[in-house]
Amino acid sequence: MPVAIDLHCHSTFSDGALSPEALVAYAAERGVKVLALTDHDEVGGLARARQAAQQHGITLINGVEISVTWKKRTIHVVGLRIDAENAAMRQVFEGVRLAREARAFEMSQGLAKVGFADVYAGAKALAGNSILTRSHLAQYLVNAGHVKNVKTVFKKYLVKGKPGFVDHEWMALPEAIHLIQQSGGVAVLAHPGRYDLGMINLHLLLNEFRDCGGVGIEVVTGSHQPPQFVQFAKLAHRFGLKASQGSDYHGPGMSFIGMGQLPDLPHGCEPLWRDWPEADFLQ
Ligand code: AMP
Ligand code: MN
Ligand code: MN
Ligand code: MN
Repeated sequence: MPVAIDLHCHSTFSDGALSPEALVAYAAERGVKVLALTDHDEVGGLARARQAAQQHGITLINGVEISVTWKKRTIHVVGLRIDAENAAMRQVFEGVRLAREARAFEMSQGLAKVGFADVYAGAKALAGNSILTRSHLAQYLVNAGHVKNVKTVFKKYLVKGKPGFVDHEWMALPEAIHLIQQSGGVAVLAHPGRYDLGMINLHLLLNEFRDCGGVGIEVVTGSHQPPQFVQFAKLAHRFGLKASQGSDYHGPGMSFIGMGQLPDLPHGCEPLWRDWPEADFLQ
């Protein structure tokens, strides 16, 4: 039996397709026993997820996925076991929310220049009160019949060098780690295999992340190919970091891996949750 823990997924509070309740129900149905909800720069879904988790008899870990700019690149840092009510954290995320609105508006201006009108309004309508992400812009363009699927929207319009891309300066790495620590949580580098950094920068990042107080990296994630599970297990060991695992589930048909389908961490990893009382029944 694989270890029934999933420490990375998204709800409608960011760019996931399922409400916190539906997400937790799905996780429970798939055999997940310990689940962290990690919406992008947003903790608003945690209270609802916690209540649903109680109903389903599973354990919810408070989480968040923070957008960070490191050496002009966007990386993601997951915070786990945070206090969702922490005022400093909520205040910072309020600022990120506003900045995301401005960024989406600017992106939609770029998209208007290539013939797609009203993308901001359309994405806003889709997102409602959720934090606004590029996924909402992409989904709007697909729903409006302009582009065949979300993947193609990203490739042609929403990545660096494309008409709908706007470079954004997110939080700095030490700031994100500090924010997580100050709300009582641990910082985990999300899907390190996805950043396409090259070996030198990857090693620099891992060193800096650990030196700033980062505790773990995602080793098994829906964003890694199986050979990367082994690669990052070795790197975790080498850089003195613990290993985490999470599906990065966003909804049906939106993720490489469903919930409850994660393979175990490779042999020799130090699981991030080994000393967590709320996960001790998994040992
Ligand atoms: P944002 O934080 O607004 O830049 O949005 C980033 C989100 O877009 C990520 O968390 C992914 O869920 C999604 N995303 C990024 N790249 C792609 C891609 N190539 N295809 C589909 N979704 C993507
Ligand atoms: Mn996402
Ligand atoms: Mn991510
Ligand atoms: Mn994610």
